Order: sequence, then structure tokens, then C-alpha cells
Amino acid sequence: MPIRQLSETMINQIAAGEVIERPASVVKELVENALDAGAARVEIVTAGGGLNLIRVTDDGSGIPEQELALAIARHCTSKLAEDIHDIRSLGFRGEALPSIGSVARLSIRSRTANSDSAAEIGIEGGRVSAVKPAAANRGTTVEVRDLFFATPARLKFMKGERAESSAISDVVKRIAIAFPAVRFTLAGSDRSTLELPAADDSPEGRLRRVAQVMGADFPDNSIAIDAMRDGVHLAGHVSIPSFSRANALQQYAYVNGRPVRDKLIAGAIRGAFADVLPRDRHAVTVLFLTLDPAIVDVNVHPAKADVRFRDPGLVRGLIVGAIREALANAGIRAATTGAAGMMAAFRPGAASYAHPGPANGHRSYEAAYRASGSAGFDPSRSPQRPLDTGFANGGFGENDQAAFDAGPLHSADARAGQDEAAEALLGMALGAARAQVHENYIVAQTTDSLVIVDQHAAHERLVYEALKNALHARAVPSQMLLLPEIVDLPEEDAERLALHSETLSRFGLAIERFGPGAVAVRETPSMLGETNVQQLVRDLADEIADNDTVDTLKERLDRIAATMACHGSVRSGRLLKAEEMNALLRQMEATPGSGTCNHGRPTYIELKLADIERLFGRR
Ligand code: ADP
Ligand code: MG
Repeated sequence: MPIRQLSETMINQIAAGEVIERPASVVKELVENALDAGAARVEIVTAGGGLNLIRVTDDGSGIPEQELALAIARHCTSKLAEDIHDIRSLGFRGEALPSIGSVARLSIRSRTANSDSAAEIGIEGGRVSAVKPAAANRGTTVEVRDLFFATPARLKFMKGERAESSAISDVVKRIAIAFPAVRFTLAGSDRSTLELPAADDSPEGRLRRVAQVMGADFPDNSIAIDAMRDGVHLAGHVSIPSFSRANALQQYAYVNGRPVRDKLIAGAIRGAFADVLPRDRHAVTVLFLTLDPAIVDVNVHPAKADVRFRDPGLVRGLIVGAIREALANAGIRAATTGAAGMMAAFRPGAASYAHPGPANGHRSYEAAYRASGSAGFDPSRSPQRPLDTGFANGGFGENDQAAFDAGPLHSADARAGQDEAAEALLGMALGAARAQVHENYIVAQTTDSLVIVDQHAAHERLVYEALKNALHARAVPSQMLLLPEIVDLPEEDAERLALHSETLSRFGLAIERFGPGAVAVRETPSMLGETNVQQLVRDLADEIADNDTVDTLKERLDRIAATMACHGSVRSGRLLKAEEMNALLRQMEATPGSGTCNHGRPTYIELKLADIERLFGRR
């Protein structure tokens, strides 16, 4: 067959193969167009998982009648003036509409602000119909029917209606997070309606939108990130470790407002949480990177979800550093949210709080309250406060207390607040230790709360942090291999490893070039013990290629430190003296990240006195 030029429709169908993978890709492209047109409201309607119908209506700038034909022509865009290095819109390739029009039945009805009527154009499987007048408000409605009718092979690859319609929801949520001031609705016969009312562009507005999308409990279980390095700004929220998920689907990232799925960002998030989450748990994150468009390339793939940073190391370092710092500062938060759940579980009338329906709920609370009173004690009639009396008698009155070596802190005097040292401890974040119960829990008191510490988890974390510090403060001890191990690698990998050999030697890995396409390993970190050197070196080469860092080694060493810490720490079951308990509390306060154990569970919880009083119906 002689070489010949492909028809316009075939060219568009080839492009559609990449741009329009499934119904959700159509929704993404159409919503992006609406947002680029400055819409304040975007309404999306779907049927049959988007395969039968996708309709997107916006109140944006509209398309002038005489440009309708261009809008569906290939390589026609109003967004890219002349510089491919300065992209500030979501679209720029001018190929979404012609691609969709080549594989489906597409119609566009639009009206601009200074026109008193709308116009409409259609394209079905590449065949364009004439522009005709129509009735519409300002803005644009794009309707796509029978997606992939012109490319049956692609149609066969579609998952069920359910899967496609939920992929559409994901796309809408992902993009809605970046545009909090825009109102979105997503409705249709194939779904329950999703409504995202307009918030605003302030940090509070952004968080409100995030909560609309991720669930109302996310703000309370997340910490704010805000950091800047060399002109790159990072903002957003990450979940506290105890709010993790089994997969990484709830990780949203944006580069200059564009939703992206980026390996580098995902890797940086994993690295940042490596200390506080087991490998099979994933943080929930919403991160916005803002940087000069000239130092990030968004023209990597037709779907525009991939980006390439000019300085990947900078971006990775910024993300890891900012999240780690925020986590370290947020130890207390991790603990109070755990306590909130516990309070809810305790509260006898929890249901009545959730549904403040009139008498019914209220009664159930009272009934529960009275039932507890019928055990022989009616707190409201008692002239004495029984708990206070218990304290004043100096007794916890339980076996646990017998095991407790009463130091000066635990005398009645100290409790009455006469001991100045004890007073001072009450003001500390974790307070003064009062008792150890069930041989593992330290009960402490602050001025306005009760703190319960899991001593094993807490100690494990402290040992881990200490080991890690030692590890990173000075060179890691290494062991000499009897015979140097030669690792064969692609030449670029060998070269990269050689470039980083100095850093690697700080981690105890002595490596040098061994002719073309090979390196020789002479020493390995002793902490790793008998290790698979080949595997280690290859992983490191991959890591350097991906991120330009040697984090793999660091993370491996950190994991070993974690394992050692677990073996070296106070097991539950050991009885502690008052001084030991207080020393542990002080050490926790001084150690960043000590609010969670190495597995992401809280090391302590804090119950506010006010909440405890509420439990007992005193408030
Ligand atoms: P791109 O978005 O890359 O420019 P598209 O094929 O998605 O390419 O759209 C082509 C052009 O049609 C856009 O550049 C824009 O001028 C116009 N357009 C598409 N959708 C809308 C819309 N909802 N509102 C206003 N103009 C639109
Ligand atoms: Mg577009």
C-alpha cells in the first residue's frame, strides 16, 4: 500500500485513543473547558455510566457563533497564545472536542455575553453539521451521546455502568477540590446526585470544599501544610496517621491548580509517612503545588495528568520536609481525635446527641442516666462528690495501685496541689503521672484533662527516634565484604550510583565504578546484616533515576531502626515507678512524632475534664 495522508476523522480517532480513554475522560475534558471559560457553576448529567449521555452545562464566557466550527476542528484553541512554556489554563492542546466528535455524537450549544441568541453545532463520528440558531442562556452546553459508537473496539473495553459512573464521580471530585469557588452538581439516572455548593477561595473555603468531597471528618483528622522553598509553594492538608486508608486513592495532588497523578509526589508522600505508617497503609492528602509554569512541563501526555518538574529533588524535599515537620508538631492532635471517638462510644445517650429529635432522644439519655443512678447512688442528691472523696482518701482502691510505688507525687498532699513540683507538672502537655493500670497504661493528669499513655507504644517510639537520630547524625557503621561484590547494571545506572557514592558511603555503603556497566560494592551497612547486595544496589539505582535521591537506603535503615526499637523497648507488663513514668512523659513531650507509635497508632489519648464531666452529667 502506498503512503498516504490519513483522513481528518482517522487522525482524530487516533488522538481520541489517548485523550478519551473512557467516559470519565470526556467529563474531565468538558469540565476543564467550562472552568477555563470562567464558569461559576458547572452542571453535569450522565446516563448509562456516561456511555449513553454526558451533558455539561456552564455559565462561562461562551463560544461566539462564528467560532463554533473552529472549536471542533483539530489543533484549534483559544488558550495558547505563543508560549508552550507558560501554560496557565487547563486546556491547551485543542484536541478534546474534535477527538470526542470523532468517536461519539457531540453537540455544542453556546451563547456569549454580548450576543442575544445562542447557536449550535453538531458532529457525529467525525461528520460535522451546519451551525444553526438555538435558544440558551449565557454559557455553554456540551452534550455527548453514544460514546464510542464509532469505535466499537474501545466500547468493548468499558467496565460496567457502575464502574464508569463512579470513575466520573472521582474525576469531578478531584477537579472540584481545585476550584472551591465554583458550584458543581453531578446528577443522572445512573447515580445519586452529588452537590458541591460554592465555597470561596480562602484557606477556610478550600478546606470546606475538601470536606464536601472527602467527608466532614477529614478536617478534624488532618493537619494543615504550608511551606515554601526556592519559589515553590506547597499548601494543603494531610491526614493524621491514625486516619489512614488501605489504598492511595484518597491522595489528591494539584500543580498550579491542575489535578495530576504524579509518581514523584506519591513517592514523596510515602516517604514523609514512612515513619508513622506501615507499608500497606496510605495517608489521605490534598496537596497544592504552586510554581512558575516555566519550571514544570505539563505537556507530557495528551491526558495532561502527568507533569515533569525541572528540579524533582526540590519538589520531593519540600513535600517530605513540610509533611514531616507538620506531623512532628501535631502529636497532640493525633491523640485528641482518638479520644473523641472514645467519648462518643462512652456517652450513654449518644443517639440522642446525634438526632436531637424532641422528647424521645432526651428521654433515652435520662433513662440511661437514671439506670446508672439506681445502682444505689444518685449523684444529683449527694451532698458530697464521691469521686473527690475517693481522691482525698488517697486511694485508687484497686490492685493496680498496690503495684504502684507511691512517690511524693502521689501523696494526698501533692494531689491537693501543695507540692510545687507536682503543680508544675500539671501544666505540662502530658501532665503528672498518677498511676499505672493493667501494667501498661500510665494515667496522668494535666490542669484540664486526663491523659492515658500506652507505655509500650510510647517507649518504642522514643527508642526509634533516638536510634534514627544516632543513625543520621554520624556515619553509619559498615562491614567490609570478604570479596567485593560486582553488580552489572546499565551504564547510566552505574554512572548515577558513582555520582552519589559519597552520600551512599555516609549510609555505610562503599561503592565504586568497576569498568563500563558495573559497580563494585566493598562495604555494606552493618545494620542490614546479610543483605542481598545486588537487589539493594539495583533498587538504589532505580530510586536515584526516579527521584535523584538515595532515600531507599535511608528508608531501609529507618525500618531496621524501627524493628530494633520494637525489640529494645519496655514491653507492656513492666511496672514503672512514679519517676520513671514522669520521665517517660517528659521525654515524649520533647520528642517530635511521639504522639503516634511506629505503626501509626496513638501512643496516648487525652480526655478533657469538661468531657468527663459531661459523661457524668455534671454539665
Ligand atoms: P482546548 O481546551 O485544549 O483549547 P478543546 O478541544 O477542549 O481544546 O476546546 C477547543 C476550544 O473550544 C477551546 O479553546 C475554547 O475556545 C472552546 N471551548 C470549548 N469548551 C468551551 C466552553 N465550555 N466554554 C467556552 N469555550 C469553550
Ligand atoms: Mg479542552
